[in-house]
Amino acid sequence: MNDLYRRFTGYDEITDLLAGSDEDALVVLNGKPALIRLPGEDPTRPARFVSTLLHGNEDSGFRAVLELLRRKDRYPFDLWVFLGNTRAARQEGWFAHRYLDDQEDFNRVWGLGPATTRMRRCAEEVLAEVTAGPLEAAVDLHNNTGENPPYAITAVRTPESLRLVGVCADIGLLWNLRINALMEALAPFCPAVAVECGKSGRPASQAFALGALDRFLETADIGDPALPAGPGALFEILHRVTVRSEVTVAFGGAVSDEVDLVLHPGLDSANFGMLLAGTELGRVHPGAAMPLCSLDMEGRDTTGRFFAVSPDGALVVTQDVTPAMMTTTALQARRDCLTYLTRRRA
Ligand SMILES: [Zn+2]
Repeated sequence: MNDLYRRFTGYDEITDLLAGSDEDALVVLNGKPALIRLPGEDPTRPARFVSTLLHGNEDSGFRAVLELLRRKDRYPFDLWVFLGNTRAARQEGWFAHRYLDDQEDFNRVWGLGPATTRMRRCAEEVLAEVTAGPLEAAVDLHNNTGENPPYAITAVRTPESLRLVGVCADIGLLWNLRINALMEALAPFCPAVAVECGKSGRPASQAFALGALDRFLETADIGDPALPAGPGALFEILHRVTVRSEVTVAFGGAVSDEVDLVLHPGLDSANFGMLLAGTELGRVHPGAAMPLCSLDMEGRDTTGRFFAVSPDGALVVTQDVTPAMMTTTALQARRDCLTYLTRRRA
């Protein structure tokens, strides 16, 4: 036994969880993560795994999962459901925090070394529990903070993973980062994808999440070679762009004594599209140095290949780029990154 997360087996044990509103379910969980196992009709089949709410401000997957559970469907396979940062999701309003000041990011603690904190121990034990038996496939539901079409991310480029991406979304993203995300930790065990369902708090995002779950659960055999080989469009992350840690940043407005970098609103509309060479991203004080840092997947600095600052303080891209996950908030730019630069794969 542990007290790191709540365990439930079968629909009978989650009656309270499903009785009220989505917010009531958070109250029932009382700040603890939850791992639910729904036994399947055929115990010889490998299990499937659905995770959500690793980020407390991303409600769409959580609401979709509850909607799914309220149907009380049975599946041929065991279904694991993990509800992650339920504490952050109910602090200072509903779904207000990706993670709390006394926490780490719950999607950066999987497969890490010594499990020194409660969150890391929770991640370690959940991973051990769900991988103790065979797993067929896993889906981890998220939201974006900026405007993005829905897409699914895989950490590895195997045929099975790309098929799973195609089951979940029309756009796929190859993620070569190693950031201790859940889907990375699951990759040695089964195809595992993170599904980004658009912005939080939107009915359309929840509907997409539920649709992706339905396709995931209704696909009889995720390993079936007859499934489409992948999504309609596949992109690969090549660079991660951050705002340098000492730089204060705002979206919109003007540079000032307090603000070193102002980024123009609406850049996120270029996600999975194109920012053309010469596009101005924002402004710095005249004479200020480059406020951004771009690193490739090997950690080499690539800032000078993509960005420049003019003497009068214009921050521009110097070649055509396809951004993904461009954010729109200073907090998110600080807590994760400003954007990724991608390349479309054939
Ligand atoms: Zn997330």
